[in-house]
Amino acid sequence: MATKQQRLCVNEADGEAGYARNSAIQSAAQNWMKPAIEEAVIGLLNLKSTDVPNSMVIADLGCSAGPNALALVSTAVDAVLHHRHAAQHDQGPLEVRVLLNDLPDNDFKDVAKRLVSFQQSTQSSGLLLTAGIVPGSFYKRLFPSNFLDLIVSSNSLHWISEVPKELRSNMIPLYDEDEGLRRARRPLVIQAYHEQFRKDFTLFLKLRAQELVPGGRMVVSMLGTRDYLCITPWDTIIIPLNDMASRGLISREMLDRFYVPMYGPSDTELREIIQDDGSFEINEMQVHQVDKTLVVPNTLARAMRAVFEPMIVQHFGLSSDSMDEFVRTLEQQLTPASPYHTYLVGDRVFVSASLTRRF
Ligand code: SAH
Repeated sequence: MATKQQRLCVNEADGEAGYARNSAIQSAAQNWMKPAIEEAVIGLLNLKSTDVPNSMVIADLGCSAGPNALALVSTAVDAVLHHRHAAQHDQGPLEVRVLLNDLPDNDFKDVAKRLVSFQQSTQSSGLLLTAGIVPGSFYKRLFPSNFLDLIVSSNSLHWISEVPKELRSNMIPLYDEDEGLRRARRPLVIQAYHEQFRKDFTLFLKLRAQELVPGGRMVVSMLGTRDYLCITPWDTIIIPLNDMASRGLISREMLDRFYVPMYGPSDTELREIIQDDGSFEINEMQVHQVDKTLVVPNTLARAMRAVFEPMIVQHFGLSSDSMDEFVRTLEQQLTPASPYHTYLVGDRVFVSASLTRRF
């Protein structure tokens, strides 16, 4: 049976359940990337100082909407301005083009408005900043060959291109109600996701290597895991949904057919994939533990709603009241008294990589 295309976008920026108000954890992950982005920009400017005209093309992949959409490109632009200011000699005018990508369902109206204010805010700096929106999947070609100088991406690459087919075809659910069965099948489920991620991330590297100039840089960060078989990004929604199914609030049968196209790799897995592909040199890889003070039950539960509501509503046809119940259930499961607390709050990490496209 053909399945409908799964909705992968997050909630629109505005409103109580919007992405803008509910993305503080993602924003913390972006802050960790700042030093690597600044280092990449300085490296690129040094590389370019002999080129005339001076220009730089920067793309953010999976930008989403709200304040996070422009956070990484503005870190890069600030670094450009700072470096130019600090440089002794006049290097002539510099043109920077920022390009923001996400899937076509993204709230690009919000992004467009932010881009215009961002351009206005840089007007007095002597920089010519132009901007563009590039809709499409980052598992396809998005830009011309040898076009980009810097690619940045935060909190997006754990979204894989599709759910591993063998799980659907063998009717293996993400979360068996029966604990024994669940434990027995877990390695199988994770292995299927691991392989899909490897395929997707390898493709991603090959595509980006074509779009970057030789020596071009890429700084990416995504949800990860410390150890293979540990927590995966979809546990945080499957566990509350399982609770709702046990209470008859959603259909168990539909839950068994609900798959989330998301995988969080360990840094070791990520390193292996990058090395096996060979298009990029690894400058640095990092693992960051999510700050537990940010894992306030209500904040995280609402953040999960902001990210997953379109996908959950599409699959289960849930009303906004049921989504409120989803938030309450997850919030309760995240409190220290809950048996799920340690698992859900425990070992959340982001993995990041700073890469250079080989010459
Ligand atoms: N970068 C932002 C948004 C993260 S949310 C931040 O750090 O807060 C993840 C975003 O990735 C969503 O907006 C989703 O639509 C986008 N996304 C998922 N798969 C994608 C794909 N294949 N191509 C482009 N964008 C994708």
